[in-house]
Amino acid sequence: TTDETGAEPDAVLELDTVVKEYGHETAVESLSLDVREGELLTMLGPSGCGKTTTLRMMAGLERPDDGEIRLRGERISGDEFVEPENRDVGIVFQDFALFPHLTVAENIAFGLTEADEMETEERVSELLELVGLESHRDRTPDQLSGGQQQRVALARSLAPEPEILLLDEPFSNLDVKLRVEMREEVRAILKEAGVTAVSVTHDQEEALSISDRVAVMNGGQIEQVGRPEMVFEHPESRFVASFLGQAGFVSGRLGDGRVDTALRTFDADQLEGLTEEYDGAVVDVLVRPDDLRARATEGDAADGHIVHRQYTGPSFVYHVELGSGELVYCQHNHVKDFEIGQPVDVELMADHTLAWYPSE
Ligand code: ATP
Repeated sequence: TTDETGAEPDAVLELDTVVKEYGHETAVESLSLDVREGELLTMLGPSGCGKTTTLRMMAGLERPDDGEIRLRGERISGDEFVEPENRDVGIVFQDFALFPHLTVAENIAFGLTEADEMETEERVSELLELVGLESHRDRTPDQLSGGQQQRVALARSLAPEPEILLLDEPFSNLDVKLRVEMREEVRAILKEAGVTAVSVTHDQEEALSISDRVAVMNGGQIEQVGRPEMVFEHPESRFVASFLGQAGFVSGRLGDGRVDTALRTFDADQLEGLTEEYDGAVVDVLVRPDDLRARATEGDAADGHIVHRQYTGPSFVYHVELGSGELVYCQHNHVKDFEIGQPVDVELMADHTLAWYPSE
């Protein structure tokens, strides 16, 4: 996301080597992150990696033990700590936290404390239109579907025009089908409002599909931040590769411009940035399910055998244990291609360069 001049858009919110500890436990460890004007950035990671703690520090609900947080260049942490209600930051909570006894319009108007009656009425109408709930303005939350409640929560947080909007696991309270619909809708609403937003999730598909940038977190730190297709296709660590989708690894030593693995011999130029300077190093090559196909073969000379078959809806993924004991995943269109235990050869379909990591 660069503008016409090629410059990065301004950072709205900056976290600079932020630390948060609970007793002896470090929840967030020296984390630095810039949230840029107008983007939707998603913090993605497994349970306990520190996403919520980071979001709560952005909101001012937790105070960092070290490091600095700046909003539009102004320090809002440490001695200059700004209370949540005085920060220009909106929050959409996981359970939406609507006021049950107020109507949709009253819920949206709630944060507009400084506006007079006419301004409030105008702004509420604007937001009802933005989220498509004009005809539901006088209903109470219990008369709304989950998706509609979420849109009200979003409208209420957007009403005071915050500098930045924080969304805590915004889709986790919705059923699976609605979740997919609402992802698209929420992204469209945020884009139309032009707001800068940060969301938190442990769902990689959600993160990849709605975000301008994804920050992949692990153990209180950011492992990689970038556009969804960059983090998926060029994962900088084994953790990022595995967290974003199924990832098989085959290892071998680089010598004479080649890496010999249980799957096949790779030419070094098939492996992204693997140059002579790594000569002699053992590397793990990343192979994803759509890179590989299994093919039936005779037992003795087979690359490996089928150990598991996984139904994913649009396709099937066969898990193949190679002779080396390594596990790789092969994507197929048909469920009945192979039986469990069947010996197979594994073909490389990828015509792109593959990622690799130094062997541990
Ligand atoms: P989840 O997806 O499960 O919500 P998360 O990535 O949001 O996880 P955090 O809630 O930020 O993770 O927690 C990070 C670490 O800090 C965890 O190990 C957690 O146990 C710990 N932690 C979080 N809040 C507190 C607290 N109030 N007191 C003590 N420890 C806490």
